[in-house]
Amino acid sequence: MNLRHEPDEVLISKTEKLVREEREILTVILHRLKEINRRRLYSSMGYKSLFHCAVERFGYSEDQAYRRINAMKLIDDVPELEQKINEGALSLTHIGIAQTLFKQEAKLKTPLPLKIKQEVIEKMCGTSVRQAERIALSYSSAPLMTPDKIRAVSEDHIEIKLTVAKDVEAKLEKLKGFLAHQNPHLSLGELVEKLCDLGLQEWDPSNSAAPRKRRVKPHSKAQAKRQAYQKSQSACSHCGSHYALEVDHRTPRALGGSDKPKNLRVLCRSCNQRAAIEAFGQIKMDPFLRKRPRPHQRSRL
Ligand SMILES: [Zn+2]
Repeated sequence: MNLRHEPDEVLISKTEKLVREEREILTVILHRLKEINRRRLYSSMGYKSLFHCAVERFGYSEDQAYRRINAMKLIDDVPELEQKINEGALSLTHIGIAQTLFKQEAKLKTPLPLKIKQEVIEKMCGTSVRQAERIALSYSSAPLMTPDKIRAVSEDHIEIKLTVAKDVEAKLEKLKGFLAHQNPHLSLGELVEKLCDLGLQEWDPSNSAAPRKRRVKPHSKAQAKRQAYQKSQSACSHCGSHYALEVDHRTPRALGGSDKPKNLRVLCRSCNQRAAIEAFGQIKMDPFLRKRPRPHQRSRL
């Protein structure tokens, strides 16, 4: 494209128009991502999540995908946001800051009321990133946590950057002390690896050696469930994800499916939801999909 001979006013006005269109396209894309998410279409294409689909299928970088999905979720909560994006008053960076605040408050205390969220969004309009951060801090009950970051530093090693509560430091020191006889120079990375091994032993649903799972009656539902996890090696049998695994009935119980092992399989929550959409239809499933899962809601068995 050669723009060298385009008159100044035309260069500016055409660029202005294109920027406006670019913003409008962004909100159109956010709506499309929302619909793909509603149908759990990424699951039927074999992706672990909408994020993986956005990166691997649509070619976004991880950061671009993360920001768009953040904005997609926030538009659902605060519909006024769409107009602000179209007007160019808010960028994806601003939305990311607002989402960090809203998620953190929901986790630490209670979700901020819609009115407050609208107020935060309104105040952030037209501000710089620094100003937006200050606005978020003024509504926050704790310092704003930055999202965890993982990057490769060699073929076999990664660097993890994360924020933890202050008392975690004392807990880590205590654990290092307990292990000092066998490992006098244990690094933080080595300690984390040991903790991961311990956690996997305790929480892997297929692990029959986990102390709290040892006693399971033969031919019981719990045993059938454990067998399903062992068969799938504690991964979704459709997409391979380990996230929020559930034991699913291949033929749903509502359609006469049994609790027998051959009718059971392990699916992640997204693939399970997609399977339910295929079995019962989108309209029937919509009210269930909108509900946020309770922490203990792991299995349908
Ligand atoms: Zn899955």
